[in-house]
Amino acid sequence: MKDLEIEIHCPHCDSGMNVMLSQIAREETVHCHSCKKPIHMKPDPKPSQEEKIRVIKSLEDINLSMKKITDAPAKPEPDRDNSIGNNKSHQNL
Ligand SMILES: [Zn+2]
Repeated sequence: MKDLEIEIHCPHCDSGMNVMLSQIAREETVHCHSCKKPIHMKPDPKPSQEEKIRVIKSLEDINLSMKKITDAPAKPEPDRDNSIGNNKSHQNL
């Protein structure tokens, strides 16, 4: 199983930090970088709706940017078309 780094917030001072999913799965205790208090992590069977939406959204963003890359074959830019048109009329003279 691939390990993932996720951001959690200290219950004491709400400072954000990154932990690995495997650490949460093992219910490890980490110490807040900010207030140095121990944070006992436990797997949350019901991730908060906000967190879920954020993960889904970031996945969608990745999909969208992937799509943009594959959909990007030589698209004419309107500005460039205009300047080409101008050049052509000059060449005709
Ligand atoms: Zn803290």
